[in-house]
Order: sequence, then C-alpha cells, then structure tokens
Amino acid sequence: MRSLSANAIQTLLITAWLLTVTAIVSGPLHAADETEPSKPITPDALPNKLKNLENADGTLKPKAPTKATPPPAAKDELSPDELANRIAKKMAELRKENERIKAAQALTPKPAKSSAGPSAMPHGANLASDNAMLSHDVHWSYDGDGGPMRWGKIDPANAKCDTGERQSPIDIRDGIRVELEPVVFDYKPVRFNVVDNGHTIQVNLGAGNSITILGRRYDLVQFHFHKPAEERVNGAGFDMVVHLVHKDIDGKLVVLAVLVQQGKANSLVQTIWNYLPLEKNDTVQPPGTIDLNQILPVNRQYYTYMGSLTTPPCTEGVLWIVFKEPVEFSQDQIGIFSRLYPMNARPIQNSAGRLIKESN
Ligand SMILES: [Zn+2]
Repeated sequence: MRSLSANAIQTLLITAWLLTVTAIVSGPLHAADETEPSKPITPDALPNKLKNLENADGTLKPKAPTKATPPPAAKDELSPDELANRIAKKMAELRKENERIKAAQALTPKPAKSSAGPSAMPHGANLASDNAMLSHDVHWSYDGDGGPMRWGKIDPANAKCDTGERQSPIDIRDGIRVELEPVVFDYKPVRFNVVDNGHTIQVNLGAGNSITILGRRYDLVQFHFHKPAEERVNGAGFDMVVHLVHKDIDGKLVVLAVLVQQGKANSLVQTIWNYLPLEKNDTVQPPGTIDLNQILPVNRQYYTYMGSLTTPPCTEGVLWIVFKEPVEFSQDQIGIFSRLYPMNARPIQNSAGRLIKESN
C-alpha cells in the first residue's frame, strides 16, 4: 500500500476544490453531457475519496489508514500525478463545454433586434456575409448577374419575382370592354425632390395629391420613369412610361401608367430634368413645386388589371391603371433619360388567366 505525500494531498485538495467550484458553476449546463462514458473519478466521487484522507476535525491524516479506507480496486488506484492529470483533463472538458454552450446561446436569434452585427460570433459573421452575398454583393439590375431572371434568387425576399402568378408588366390584350368608373384626380402643385436611386429617376412628392377609385382614396407618393415602356398594348411598345405610385391608408397600391411617345417637349419633365442629381443615390431638393396634372393625357380612358411591382420584391396585389392615350416627350428629353438609363424595363410577364378590363 502506497501512501500519499503531504504535497500530493495538498495538490489534490486544491484541484478538488477547483473542480467542485467548476462543477457547481457549470452544473446545469453540464447536465446535457450526462451520457458521456464514465470517468475513473467523477466530480461527485471525488469528495468521498478526499474524505478518506481527512480526520473528523478536517485535518489531514498523517497516513492513509489501513482499516478505515480499504484499498480501492486495483484499476481505481491512481497516482497523485495521474489524478491531477485527470482533474486537469476534466476541467478542460468542462471549460470546453461551457464555451460550446455560450457559443450556442449567442447564435440563438434574438426576437427584438437581430441586428447584432456581423462580428457577434464567428458563425454569425458567416450568416451575415451569406446574406450580404445574396442581397448586397449581387444587387438587382436589368442585366448581368443581377438581371430579371435572377431577381427571385439573389434575395429570398424577392421570391414572388420567380413564383408569382400575377406579375407585371404584361402585354395588354384581349381586355373586356366595359363602362369603367373614371379615375377622379385631386392633383395640385406640391413640393418635390428628385432621386437617382440607381434603377431610375424617382420624384418623391409632398402630401396633397390623391386619386379616388370606386370611392376609395389613394395618395400619390412618388413617380418614376422606365425606358422603354414596360407594358405593351396589343404587342406594341412605347418609348417610355411614367409610373405614378399611389397608396391608400391600408398600404394598398395603385400604379397609374402614362405611356410616352416621342413628340413635343413636356414642361413638367423638363423641370425634373433640370434638377437631375449629378450622382447616383443623390437627392436634389428643388425650391419650387410641380403640378402632376401636366403629365396626364387629355383622354382618361384606361386599361386595368391586377399585377405586381415591376421591381424587386415584385409584391403582388397592385391595381394597375394604364391610360390608353400616350403623352409626348421630346427627342432631347428622352435622350437625356437614356444617357442615365438606356434600358430599365422588366421583361413582359405571363398574363394568362388574368382579367383585363378596358374603358369602352
Ligand atoms: Zn415602375
């Protein structure tokens, strides 16, 4: 029977205390690890083992007693060094387990604000950069990697661009001729700003403009341009189109489309071109007001159908009203837009199964 030296016993006590503290601190977290193969010395067994080395008053026994502590089975007999090794190993395992659990907790999505930032955790950083690759690195556009055929793939939020069945624009044909309620306009001069958003020139408008359709009021929020016109009528295309985007109190959208063909200059468009931003993503805030009545055709007969936004996320449930009569922009005015956006029209979408109405 070997005896433990005083140094070895001291080492044992210190490491055991450390182990007990660690076991208490990490107790509930470590519980998940209960299925691990049992170790020669577990944190629970250790205090008993140590008790055998103490007198009743807590002082260390000078020697290991022969009767009170029957020798453990040979395979349990450990040298102090090996015991210290195993304790160190166990503590390392506990530390590792704690780190694993902390990492798992950090990855759990936080409901309130998930904008923890890309540097929160290594794996979180990977997720963030995946998203960046989807929605930012490849930005949507009208050609190349971000082109219309890929809009639904570069960001899950754009799924409707791929899977939607009521998408815009369409080739307007085979409409049923009926008595359509006239659109009631309440347009007046308002303040505006001009934005080059990287996809088109957009004009944001101050409050005060609205239309009423079937008793429901929609406020004019912004309008923007496409070249060529996105929609076709019986297969025929147009030089440009102006989309006037209206929204009601519930967020329902009505887009009025004013087709444009080359002809006389339009004074309202000239005002907007005068304030074009010099750089993309810039906004110009002009001093005066504009009156959108100046961009509407004289004849207000129209086609109407249910469709979508023609840019990502291609949201559906948009009521489209396309005026039959086009307005005119001059060749120079069309040329100026073309310098900025030579082609910013989404291809024609399948209109199968959709009802199109047109003014009689
Ligand atoms: Zn548009």
